Amino acid sequence: MPFVPKVPGSAPEVRVRDTASGELVPAARGDLVTLYVCGITPYDATHMGHAATYVTFDLLGRVLRDSGHAVRYVQNITDIDDPLLERAERDGVDWRDLATREIALFREDMTALAVIPPDEYLGAVESIPTFVGPIEKLVADGWAYAVPAPDASRDGAQDHYFDVARDPRFGSVSHLDEAGMMEVFAERGGDPDREGKRNRLDALLWRAHREGEPEWDGGSLGSGRPGWHIECACIALDHLGIPVDVQGGGTDLVFPHHEMSSAHGRALGGSESFAGSFVHQGMVGLDGEKMSKSKGNLVLVSQLRRDGVDPMAIRLALLARHHAHDWMWTDDQLTEAQQRLSTWREALSGNGGPVADQTVDDIRAALADDLDSPRALGAVDRWASQSLTRGGDDPGAPGVLGRALDALLGIRI
Ligand code: ZN
Repeated sequence: MPFVPKVPGSAPEVRVRDTASGELVPAARGDLVTLYVCGITPYDATHMGHAATYVTFDLLGRVLRDSGHAVRYVQNITDIDDPLLERAERDGVDWRDLATREIALFREDMTALAVIPPDEYLGAVESIPTFVGPIEKLVADGWAYAVPAPDASRDGAQDHYFDVARDPRFGSVSHLDEAGMMEVFAERGGDPDREGKRNRLDALLWRAHREGEPEWDGGSLGSGRPGWHIECACIALDHLGIPVDVQGGGTDLVFPHHEMSSAHGRALGGSESFAGSFVHQGMVGLDGEKMSKSKGNLVLVSQLRRDGVDPMAIRLALLARHHAHDWMWTDDQLTEAQQRLSTWREALSGNGGPVADQTVDDIRAALADDLDSPRALGAVDRWASQSLTRGGDDPGAPGVLGRALDALLGIRI
């Protein structure tokens, strides 16, 4: 946890747009706010899409703390999954070494971007023993069923699936109809054509061991490895309890991931809802397409850092776009962010400036309104412009505003 300065004055209640209800709702439901954000699958370096997500939820944590709340933030790492195994195989490296290397790079990137680390940062692998009991319970309670896996390494082995038809609230996160769900299920890790499933949308909970794949003791499930969605459900349940206040991630996780992990979590926790609100970061694209590892159109945080770009400029470029919208990354945006950063630095390096109290209030009001960071940046721009053109006689103003930029926006001048 880095040092975060205190900012004078008081902050309004933070509201966020909840994907499930479509409404603006308070992010906090009590003094303590629990935040669960889905982490990376560590098979490639952090691109702007990831960075946007973790900066957005870092912003949320900052404004919640500023408004007097304690925040407990948990993030997972999907350090065992098909894409990781496939990449390791392609590159001829051990999947564990690949994951370790990419996790280290991710953490370096996050530190450079001034992202306050989660309180707990949990790998799927280290947590596997805690997934087995809950999956066995889902089977025992009739929420899950076994499907024979004839290609498994042992005779009679079975995969286990969650029965989505059992869940009356299935669809309550994404509000997609069946056709809409089917459209994205396969491309986001689902296996609609697997033989023996009751419903094509049923989600894998436990995969029996196949030759050449790593395996863990699954108790009565047999040896194998977990599905993706159950990992987040169990980690959230164990480390925060459900409902969590805010479940976060990119919009590409709304379905199936958040729909499924919510269904699993509700079935396990006996809770009506998985989260007080679901907050989603829009996709960041490049050259007209979503930035993704599979397409290879990536702008990497680590590459920009190696090129000597100030990480604060990268962060400012991300904050210049509202988190709820999809947008395209361009070099011009980075140039604009670099110019903005140097203007702010110049204005804040003076011996005084215009009184900054209203600017701090404006930043707080903008961020409390569904994390409207572009509006917050506009307020700072106006102060900087006034300071540079007309000056000001408040000797404390640069200090107050500099602390606010650090504490609220994570921008260190
Ligand atoms: Zn997740």
